[in-house]
Amino acid sequence: MDVPAKAKIFGQRLLQQHVRIGITGLSGAGKTAFITSLVNLLTQDAEPQAAFFDVMQQGRFIGGQLQPNANLQLARFPFEFNLQQILQGRWPASTEQISQLTLELRYHSGHVLRRRLSQYQSIRLEITDYPGEWLLDLPMLSQEFADWTAQAYAALAANQHVPAVAAYLAALHSDQQAVDALRTRMLTDLYQQALRAMKQQGWLALQPGRLLRPAELAGSPLLELFPLDPAIAVGPLYSFLQQQFKAYCQQVVTPFYQQYFAGLDRQVILVDCLGALNDGFAALTQLQQALLQLAEQFRYGPDSWFGRLFKPRISKVLFAASKADLLTPDQHRNLLLLLQQMLRQPLYQQQYQLCQTEVLALASVVSAQLGQVQTASGPQACLQGRLQQNGELCTLYPGDVPISMPSEAIFAQHRFEFPKFLPMLNGKQQSSHLRLDQALQFLLGDLLQ
Ligand code: GDP
Repeated sequence: MDVPAKAKIFGQRLLQQHVRIGITGLSGAGKTAFITSLVNLLTQDAEPQAAFFDVMQQGRFIGGQLQPNANLQLARFPFEFNLQQILQGRWPASTEQISQLTLELRYHSGHVLRRRLSQYQSIRLEITDYPGEWLLDLPMLSQEFADWTAQAYAALAANQHVPAVAAYLAALHSDQQAVDALRTRMLTDLYQQALRAMKQQGWLALQPGRLLRPAELAGSPLLELFPLDPAIAVGPLYSFLQQQFKAYCQQVVTPFYQQYFAGLDRQVILVDCLGALNDGFAALTQLQQALLQLAEQFRYGPDSWFGRLFKPRISKVLFAASKADLLTPDQHRNLLLLLQQMLRQPLYQQQYQLCQTEVLALASVVSAQLGQVQTASGPQACLQGRLQQNGELCTLYPGDVPISMPSEAIFAQHRFEFPKFLPMLNGKQQSSHLRLDQALQFLLGDLLQ
């Protein structure tokens, strides 16, 4: 190898950047589909649909290749299997735990000087997928057990009509003092069932988040944490739970933030607004609260306790309303406006933030074809897709999206019924997306120049 070529390779290594992107969102938000489709776009040989991703649009992108993950103890995101599922017209299994995927992206620089220095530039992209429920545990670190238990109990009290919640409360009230291994296990299981039932009712800010998504901690004594009636502030069960709360914060929440979250450079938060609209007023209100709580974690100024504790370095946050393909195109803007309105506080306060934020309405995998039907009032846009529940082909108008948080009265008069379709392939037997290229431009555009 001649000296200039060696110098070029040396230059390349020096120039390789490393960027870590976290993908999160509450369960069902679309994380698995998003990562699979994003990685597919970055690694496929075929001409990508990426008009808004400058490096691809300008023909400077050479390609992306999967690489072994640096941390072999973490699960690898099952990209190949998930992609196969989508290409067979099925949705892959959702995120249950943290996983990672690493890629090397090669591209030609748009700068003459950098082009002279090396044949190509490369960037190491590490994607971390994790359940948003884990992120909702963060506020526990700034709480005492007494505050936490009062708050968690209030959520239970508001859901007493739910049978699983009533069952937990009945078991708890039968004796609020006794502590033994069988009883704490039984109460943990009942509380877990109560949390799951509340989640099905659209309740989202549920703690401890790990009890909902335990992953490798399933059955661990660290997850034996449940709230007591706030009238009880002493006694053996109270002391036991106080210890458990401390252990959970120290051994579950803190390590997650230190090891993974604090190391991220950029973050994507996926939000299923359409699912929440289908589920009703309570679900949408809960989604907004959970979202504000999630967004709060990116508003760390130098004085925040979070900033001091974890020194995070996230510089960009993308809030993405997922599944926009379930709408006719005229409604995409409404979906965007709805999400913006739900996030109003964090975006309004953007000038105080250390990170840049963007809001998009996108679809990772398009599941419907756009069409038109003739109605008495003229042509009407409609969607055609295969229904998830029975695979039947169906043509419908999915409905309008409100541009701001609808009131309870609107839900009383109107039922939102956005469909659930199976993935659809295009004429080239590939899946299509909506605005993933804009997401990539926001997340990586500045690094691939
Ligand atoms: P996760 O729990 O956040 O990993 O969510 P998934 O990615 O598994 O998505 C949950 C479900 O949402 C899927 O099974 C699909 O039914 C639906 N979904 C996800 N992404 C899309 C999308 O881009 N378009 C449509 N129409 N549905 C989607």
